[in-house]
Order: sequence, then structure tokens, then C-alpha cells
Amino acid sequence: MPSESYEIVPSLINGEWLSINKDKYTNVYNPAKGEIISKTPMCGNKELDKAVEAAEKAFVSWSSLPSNNRAQILFNYRSLLKDNLEEIAKIISTENGKTLAEAKGDIQRGFEVVEFACGISQLSKGESLAEVAPNIDATTIREPLGICAGISPFNFPAMVPMWMFPLAIACGNTFILKPSEKVPLTAVKLVKLFEKAGLPKGVLNLIHGGKEIVDGLCTHPKISAISFVGSSIVGHHVYSLASLNGKRVQAGGAAKNALLVMGDAEPDSTLRAIMSSSFGCAGQRCMAGSLLVGVGDVKESLKEKVSGAIDKLIVGDPIKNEKTEMGPVIDSNSQERISKIIEKVEKNGASLINDGRKLIDNDGYFIGPTLFDNVNPDMTVFSEEIFGPVLSILNPKNLTEAIQWLNKLNYGNGATIFTTSGASAKEFRASIKCGMVGINVGVPAPMAMFPFSGWNESFYGDLHMQGSEGVMFYTRQKVILSRWDDSYKDKQGW
Ligand code: NAD
Repeated sequence: MPSESYEIVPSLINGEWLSINKDKYTNVYNPAKGEIISKTPMCGNKELDKAVEAAEKAFVSWSSLPSNNRAQILFNYRSLLKDNLEEIAKIISTENGKTLAEAKGDIQRGFEVVEFACGISQLSKGESLAEVAPNIDATTIREPLGICAGISPFNFPAMVPMWMFPLAIACGNTFILKPSEKVPLTAVKLVKLFEKAGLPKGVLNLIHGGKEIVDGLCTHPKISAISFVGSSIVGHHVYSLASLNGKRVQAGGAAKNALLVMGDAEPDSTLRAIMSSSFGCAGQRCMAGSLLVGVGDVKESLKEKVSGAIDKLIVGDPIKNEKTEMGPVIDSNSQERISKIIEKVEKNGASLINDGRKLIDNDGYFIGPTLFDNVNPDMTVFSEEIFGPVLSILNPKNLTEAIQWLNKLNYGNGATIFTTSGASAKEFRASIKCGMVGINVGVPAPMAMFPFSGWNESFYGDLHMQGSEGVMFYTRQKVILSRWDDSYKDKQGW
């Protein structure tokens, strides 16, 4: 168990850690054991108003601090994250169920955003042009928006919140974080470390809850921007409500990602990439491979290899056994939901090759890796997100047909091609309709220095998280035209 444990998950408002008593709580589980480890208070507008008041007050001095001084605190934060890597990984693994190696990857991706944000002085520079008109110079500056808020999902307890608050704060904003009520303990640790790094009180506030607090954030008149990551149905709700209330919004949603294998693909590295993409984090990744598209003759041998590798995969409690390759899903609801999907897909005519339901009798919320063959684009399983370790095989006759099928998907997070042919890779890159494309890469993962570019129903908004778009999202531009020639007092111009 991690060193700190709480009966009620603490909230941070105006620099004070509070154990807030509410009528309603959500249990936090260790999903590998099915045991309750803490409870999340379902905060409401009373707590929200206090957090907004604190963030508004802190904004005055934080936003006027030179960007280099803000960056110094981010440099300190970077060191503390590094020193506490093992501890944070244990917290993630305990409350989310992913393996320690996956938990470290979760932190690493967030850590890279902090490193990116350390360069805020360079990143937020404006532009200037002398003599845009006679004797008139033009300059742009980027200013923070005010109070920003972040709402995050359960599957990446460190990475997703860190797509949001480090960059927003580096840009001079103050922030209210509302993490997933299912995995709030990682957020507590991340926020405590930022405090320790020297962040002034009120700059970052942490409050917990569900729909009430999310709707409160989306409608509060003093909040300027909302970053959301989660399911598309909630993402669409957040996008609509917050933009109707005049806020800037970026909302990442659900996904259905494909792994397309050509006959000329390098077999061993392709198999490793498929296994880690589809069954890493028990398939609970917005970039998880969910459709395995074996083009033409390669399909049969691919099925045999993946099925054999599934049989060897070590599934279990990642804390108890360090060799564990796949942990449980997040909770009993997820376990039941995925199990029903498997039943339905089989009834609808797909062939069940490996059945993960055999693990259901174990302690904890386990579903083993599951493989279906003979799936086609008319089946529901082709287009619906499962968010569990279930992989479906399709068999188009050629690359053109494969791309036609995949472009029918409503989501648009990611798709990968495995091939040794430059021509196939080029055709795929040009024709596939999604925002993150892999070429011989199982998970075209979000990287801090680039935007995470979901398309279609995988993203609502204009400016994505991370990279240059992240800086644009958390700042607004002022364009300044100035005239200082000797005669400006006498001559009236425009
Ligand atoms: P979720 O939508 O259930 O919850 C996300 C957040 O919204 C949580 O903080 C939750 O408290 C809040 N919420 C839940 N229901 C709400 C409601 N009715 N009204 C207002 N707020 C509500 O998502 P989840 O189950 O935590 O996460 C899994 C989903 O997240 C998957 O669909 C996955 O694809 C997606 N995801 C997307 C990305 C991306 O970048 N596109 C990254 C990670 C996860």
C-alpha cells in the first residue's frame, strides 16, 4: 500500500487540505482485490464557490509573476515528480489496477508535459512587426485567461490531469482540478507535490465529485475555460454546456482504434505491438487497439499468433505479482458491462477465439484478454467503444477496402498500419480519417510537444491538449498597435 491513506479523500481549497463531510460519497476501490480503500466526497456548489474565490484571489499575483519565476516552480515540481516516481506509481496501481510499469508510463507522459511547460517563456512569446503602417508598429502578447478547470477520467490518473494543470498554470492561470471520483488519490499526491514545489496557495485547487460539480464548473460565471477528458457522451454534454456559458472548451472523448496489418509486416515486432496496444492497461486506453485488421492472406496466421500470445499473458494483481502483464478493469460495473458485450458479440455471429470471462470468479474485477474473429463493419462491435481487453479481427481483401471500412467509424482518435512498404504506409497516412496515425507503432501516443489530435466524435472543440495548441488554449492574444514618432501629437491618422 502507498504510505498515505485517507478515510475521506482530501480536497485542497485556498491552500488548505480539507476532509469534507458530505451526504454522498463514491467508494474508491483497489480493483485487483475488490476492496474499498477510501471514499470520495461528492462536493457541490458550496465547495466550488470557495475554490473559485481562492483561484480568483490568487490569479492577481500569479498572473503578474514573470514567466521565468513561474517556470522555476515547474522545475522544482519536475524534480519532485522524479523523486516520487515509485510512490506515485504504487498509488496509481492500487486505485486503478494497471501494472507498475504501466503506471510509470502514465506518470512519464505527464512528467513530459511539466518539462514542456518549463519552457513557458519561450512558448508564450508573441510576435512583432515594425512599420505595419507608416510609423506604426504591431506586437502581440499572450495573456492568461483567468480561472481554468480540468475534469479527468479514471484510466490515466496522472497523465490526463497533467495534460491540463501544469500548462494552464505555467501560462499564468489559476486552476481547479476535478479528477475522476474513482481514482482521486493520484491527484491528491500530484497536487501535494506541486504545493511542495512552491506553488502559492489558491493557484491550484482540488475538488472532488461527479455530475453536480462538473455542471457547476461548466456554468460558473467566473470560470474562463474547461478542459475535459472522458466518454464522448459526457464530453459532448460538457462542451455544449460550457460553451453555451461563454467558456473556451476542449473535450476529448471515446475512441475505436484500429491496428491494420499488411502481409509484408515484420511479424515479431508487430505481434508485440498488437498485444501491448490491445491488452495494455486492460484495454482501458483511449488509444487501445480494438480492431485488428488482417489484410488478405495474413489474417489466419495473425489470428493464430495473437491467440497463442493471449494464452501466455499473465493476468493478475500487479502489486502482488510484479510479473503481471495485465491487471483488472476498474470496477464491478465495468466487469459486468464488458462481460455482457462479449455475450452479445458472440450471439451476433462473431467467433469467440479466446474468452476472458473465465477469470470472473477470481477476487477483484478481472476480465481476461478476449479475441473475436469474423467481425465485419455491419456489426455493432465494429463501431462501439468497449474500453476493455477485447480485440476483434476483420479481414478486408486489400488496403483500399480496409481504409474504406475504417473511415466509416464515427470516432477518430487513432489508427496504425504495420507494413514494410513505404507506398502502403503513405497511402494509409493520406487516406485514413483520424487524428493520431501510427506507422509500425502500436499506440500513436500523445507526446507533450505535440497536440493530442483526436478527430470527429473523439474530440469537441478547436484547440487540442498539449503542445502549441495547449499554450494557445490557455492564453488569449492581445494585438497592440503603437506609434511613437515625434509628430504623432499633431497629425491625426488612424
Ligand atoms: P466518464 O465520461 O464517465 O467520466 C469522465 C469525467 O466526467 C469524470 O471526472 C466524471 O466524474 C465526470 N462525469 C461522469 N458522468 C458525468 C455526467 N453525467 N455529467 C457530468 N460529468 C460526469 O469517463 P471515464 O469512464 O472516467 O473514462 C473512460 C472514457 O474516457 C473512455 O470513453 C475513454 O475513451 C475516454 N478517454 C478519452 C481520452 C482522450 O484523450 N480522448 C483519454 C482518456 C480516456
